[in-house]
Amino acid sequence: MLLDIFDPKAPPKAIGIDLGTTHSIVAHIVDDKPTAMINCDGTALLPSVVHFGRQGEIVVGQSAKSYLTREPQRTIQSAKRFVGRSTADVENDALSVYQLASAEEGTAKEVRFDFGDRSVSAVEVSAEILKSLKQSASDQLMSVGGAVITVPAYFDDAQRQATRDAGRLAGLDVIRLLNEPTAAALAYGLAHKQNGTFVVYDLGGGTFDVTVLLLDDGVFQVKSTGGDSALGGDDMDRLIAEDMLVQMGFAPHPPRPPEIVSLALVAARAAKHALSEAPQLVVELPKKGGGQLEYSVSREQFDGWIAPLLARAKKACRRALRDAETDIADIDGVILVGGSTRVLKVRSHVAEIFGTEPLSGVDPDLVVAYGAAIQAEMLSQASDEVLLLDVLPLSLGIETMGGGIDKILPRNTSIPCGAKSQFTTYADNQTGFEIHVVQGERELAEDCRSLAKFSLQGIPPMPAGMARLEVEFHVDQDSLLSVSAKEVTTGTEQSVEVRPSYGLDDEQVEEMLLAAFDHGEDDFERRRLADARVEASRILLATQKALEADADLLDESEGAKVEAAVIALDEAIQSSQKASTVQFAIDEVDAVTHEWAGRRMNRAVQSAIGGTRVGELEATVSQARGVEAHLKDHRGE
Ligand code: ADP
Ligand code: MG
Repeated sequence: MLLDIFDPKAPPKAIGIDLGTTHSIVAHIVDDKPTAMINCDGTALLPSVVHFGRQGEIVVGQSAKSYLTREPQRTIQSAKRFVGRSTADVENDALSVYQLASAEEGTAKEVRFDFGDRSVSAVEVSAEILKSLKQSASDQLMSVGGAVITVPAYFDDAQRQATRDAGRLAGLDVIRLLNEPTAAALAYGLAHKQNGTFVVYDLGGGTFDVTVLLLDDGVFQVKSTGGDSALGGDDMDRLIAEDMLVQMGFAPHPPRPPEIVSLALVAARAAKHALSEAPQLVVELPKKGGGQLEYSVSREQFDGWIAPLLARAKKACRRALRDAETDIADIDGVILVGGSTRVLKVRSHVAEIFGTEPLSGVDPDLVVAYGAAIQAEMLSQASDEVLLLDVLPLSLGIETMGGGIDKILPRNTSIPCGAKSQFTTYADNQTGFEIHVVQGERELAEDCRSLAKFSLQGIPPMPAGMARLEVEFHVDQDSLLSVSAKEVTTGTEQSVEVRPSYGLDDEQVEEMLLAAFDHGEDDFERRRLADARVEASRILLATQKALEADADLLDESEGAKVEAAVIALDEAIQSSQKASTVQFAIDEVDAVTHEWAGRRMNRAVQSAIGGTRVGELEATVSQARGVEAHLKDHRGE
């Protein structure tokens, strides 16, 4: 009898996981080649569906799918769309057939699916999928080591954190989160072949992602990402189903019996898959009121129906190329990812957009999982052969006085990355700063996404403009952001790992980019007005203080002019809607106080020589000079 004998000291094997919206896959390396592992369904592709039974039982994969029609609210599909997002984020999501629980205290706004007897978060749903894959892996490997899990390139901080949490919940040692397009490029072995610019075209079940990757001597850099979070194979299914329903005798608009609609959708998907092989096909469908329909559909018809979908994908490709500042002529290769790229029309469409035949040869369903397995193996052997770089999808910055933002890390910066920016106090004796971290492209903080707020306390009282606050941003390998703030003169320090309670999806990213573009001029004016108001308030305060201390240095007519200019400035701050008006009032104050400022400076110098502390002199000088950025006044109490 032969026994399988495992070396007890055999090192645990690293695995790669493609945690997809529609399907999830676990892979590992066998004899230097990536291989998909068999899951609990006995196949490679595990449907990303989890059913939570009334007795507490949890069913994952193909068997869970059968509950979709029977107990739709207890059967979660497309959990990836909800991960790292708030209830508010997904309120209008068409997929929400689910009962979403209202936010609990403390857990902020994380999405929870409510079943009445219990509720689960999207992270827990993903964790169940990962647990199932981990179980399959350990059945075959004995000992599972570190795992690389892939995420869409556009996933923001919150979505990445949530994916990591799901891995942790599943008992996995998540050694890296890897961008899906980068994984695909690794699976094609591009790292060893050539330098160049590659496009990854990923059309899955419900989402479309396009990424421009630059490969330079073994270093991958994501140049830009784009796509459409509501475009995929499901839309194709719907188009065929609509046609089927009409021919079956149902009116083209709801309400229609839901069982009939699901039947049509199942038949439509099967027909779609068949059309990837055959040019024409006939399906038997039930007719309304009884009888059978010989439904026939051709590839040509189907290609016509999906043309508007492909046009949308094309637009997203153009935008991604523009963002990457890349011409079509500079593209060295296009990689197809996702089951929907099996549709022949999609392939020819891609060839048309990029003027080159897309690379095929690696299964588009498995390519991402293969790349994850390759990366996991490389990391577990501590090989630094291929460095992987990604970019930030949106700028990161902090809110400045007046509601503007200082962009500390601009969009498309390669990660990991870090940057510092200096700020100073706005008011005298300010002992605390409020730091508001935002993400987005717009000029004003209120139009950007708020990621975190924290405060730096315990700064000794100093005149305005004297404190030197250094804010440092750091984004790590997995795109996770941490922010630290330090008051340089005293060394007071504070830092946070930014853990926002909600995230952005690619559509929102796109909306924010478009909004920044549409509102460009508008924003610019509002930002200028906000900045002018801050500057005006600072000058108003300083002038009022000067009047208290040094009014005796003005003669009567000068005094009257200064008073009048100060009142006009105050009014401009309160009511003016134009930066130019505020600026005009500032210039007026400057003009009427110019000579007086000289006299005041003389007096200050005299008294400094006479023994006044130098700090005060510096304060006067720095107030006169003006400072570029101020943080909000935030006193401890
Ligand atoms: P995701 O990345 O969202 O998990 P997948 O990459 O698994 O998605 O793609 C799933 C989609 O691919 C489904 O809409 C499915 O119908 C479609 N698909 C799979 N095989 C084929 C095929 N042979 N022809 C057309 N579409 C296909
Ligand atoms: Mg996918």
